[in-house]
Amino acid sequence: MSAHVSFATMLAAVTPRPNAREPGGWIRASVPKRAPQSGSTTIRSAKARAPNLRSRALAEDAPESNIVPSPSDAPELARGPLKPTETLKLAVFSTSSYMRHTQAPVIEEALGADNVRWLDVGLTPQTAPLAAGCNATCLFVNDRADAETIDALADLGVRFIAMRCAGFDRVDLDACARRGVAVTRVPAYSPYAIAEHAIAMMLALNRQLMKGHARVVQGNYSLSGLVGFDMHGKTVGIVGTGKIGRCTAKILLGMGCEVLAYDVFQSKEAIDMGVKYVDTVEELLPRCQIVSLHCPLTDDTHHLMNDAAFELMRRGSMLVNTSRGGLVDTAALARALDAQKIACVAMDVYEHEAGLFFEDKSEETDATPGSSLSPDWDLSLGSLASRPNVLVTSHQAFLTAEALGNIATTTVENLREFAGGGGAGEGGAYVNEVIGH
Ligand code: NAD
Repeated sequence: MSAHVSFATMLAAVTPRPNAREPGGWIRASVPKRAPQSGSTTIRSAKARAPNLRSRALAEDAPESNIVPSPSDAPELARGPLKPTETLKLAVFSTSSYMRHTQAPVIEEALGADNVRWLDVGLTPQTAPLAAGCNATCLFVNDRADAETIDALADLGVRFIAMRCAGFDRVDLDACARRGVAVTRVPAYSPYAIAEHAIAMMLALNRQLMKGHARVVQGNYSLSGLVGFDMHGKTVGIVGTGKIGRCTAKILLGMGCEVLAYDVFQSKEAIDMGVKYVDTVEELLPRCQIVSLHCPLTDDTHHLMNDAAFELMRRGSMLVNTSRGGLVDTAALARALDAQKIACVAMDVYEHEAGLFFEDKSEETDATPGSSLSPDWDLSLGSLASRPNVLVTSHQAFLTAEALGNIATTTVENLREFAGGGGAGEGGAYVNEVIGH
């Protein structure tokens, strides 16, 4: 992939010179601690105040962008799908190195490499100006698409948000509707990836694989303290029997578990495979040795696992959350672990993961020489993750080659609808459009 855009000029005032060239043309530059605050959305002020970013777009010798308009010739904002005379210009936020081989080639082949801007930074009101000149953005789970950010994007002429994930709980759909910004997502890309990760976490915790491996690395081959339990014959509770919940249930049934489930809608497929539904979460929790969460984060499910819920869980049971961090009240979880009400927890998601997960925060102690703690170290997560009975991964359940490929393909299909002049779904909606209430 080649670099398309030079932000060298706009970053010159705030950015140290790029200090390392990565393979494949991606450029890394050091990042200042805090992005400058900006409420303005004009292109000129965006250039003046844009935050630092790590992006291959930082190449100092890259040609000036052909997709960043100068302030004076900023076009009148168009609305709705693209017209035949318009070209789709896409700003991809929160890009990661793993996208280089799995997703970027698919997206660049479909849209043309010169029409795609890869940005390592996440979307915030401060980074939104980096989408100047684009009519579409591609976002990931922790990108911040609240009303302020949507206004900033819409003021730049962005009319389409292609989420490259299933969840959209950080997108203000009302703001999108108000500003005429359509939002699509990838409703399914590989439920197996997430279900298999949930099972991997369950087994790793149960059989104490982290502790066992660490011992062997240090030449300690003793088995004391590593007793697990057979999964066979245990009762596992699934909250949310959608695509991922059903996949998880299927694997568990294959291991000889009894699977109980709660969902606001019961699935015939789940019942046919042997899942037994209960009527409430309260009924489910006391009956299970393991509870695995697979429902979306909504107003109804926020802090589904609170003090009262942990009180209902069986003593010595396990909680697994690969769905969304906000389902679990982190403080209540810590209390349940302290009281040994539950034995252990596996979490691929964390209530306050935005701004932490997907980032390497390990080098930030350089900001305070001599300190071993980064200024924005998350004490709750740190203290949870340091417990031997807690297993944390940083939102990586989706991360399989198959899932990434499927995400890229569906994202391109969604973008093609926008570029093709409108949605092919019901009533002219985009097939994978997310519409607010
Ligand atoms: P899905 O829409 O197929 O299934 C969600 C299920 O939850 C549905 O059956 C729905 O009826 C049920 N549900 C809704 N509200 C509920 C409630 N109050 N109580 C119980 N059940 C309720 O979604 P999916 O593809 O199975 O994904 C499930 C969740 O997994 C997503 O919402 C997302 O948050 C999460 N996810 C995580 C990752 C990751 O990498 N960790 C990746 C993809 C999805």
